[in-house]
Amino acid sequence: MTFMPAKFDFHTHTLYSDGASTVALMVEAAEARGLEAIALTDHGFELSMGIPREKLASMLRDIEIAREDAGIQVLAGIEANVVDEWGTIDVNDESSRKLDILLVSIHRLGRARNPTEIARDYLMRATNAIEHHKFDVFVHPFYFHHYLAPHLLPEDLEDFVRLAAGHEVAMEINIKYRTPDEEFLRLCLREGVKLSVGTDAHTPGEVGRVDWALGVLRRLGAKREDLILDSFLR
Ligand SMILES: [Zn+2]
Ligand SMILES: [Zn+2]
Repeated sequence: MTFMPAKFDFHTHTLYSDGASTVALMVEAAEARGLEAIALTDHGFELSMGIPREKLASMLRDIEIAREDAGIQVLAGIEANVVDEWGTIDVNDESSRKLDILLVSIHRLGRARNPTEIARDYLMRATNAIEHHKFDVFVHPFYFHHYLAPHLLPEDLEDFVRLAAGHEVAMEINIKYRTPDEEFLRLCLREGVKLSVGTDAHTPGEVGRVDWALGVLRRLGAKREDLILDSFLR
């Protein structure tokens, strides 16, 4: 059977953080592109461009309204940021309980040293985040100004992927940064880690432009059940 492209976009930003558009227009764009589902996932509370804590209720209300009008699945999410080497994230349990989907990513590391040390710092923070927090998708994996996975040992990457599998954390194919590489994704599929797709769109024009990810999934021989989409469809 040929690969059935499941079109969804689980990583988008709006005016609530550093996006350029409203929730309503992002959802409209997703529908126009024929997506099955979209997640609105503005940055967490601690980043300077993140959503202010006191605006969470208003964001959830906007998403609820957009959902009522939409003919597709609309998820309320946040892209939480890992804030320290212990893997602490900037969205607490009380806030994350109000969300349909929680993404986690790394936008900040310790002081820059050589590429191997940067990559190991990244891996430690990501590992600790998975061990200490419940979340759905680790996004733009191993991307920090450039792709870090080649600076890590294959066995360390394998341990990381097995950890993600054990904690049911999916890995994202990120279209903005074109990461991770196919070797890493193949490892994910082998170890039973589900895959997500995210454009990281900051404008309606970018929403749902997932063709690159679909090409990757086709080459990997991924099946629909390898994606996290179905567990979020109602
Ligand atoms: Zn990000
Ligand atoms: Zn993002």
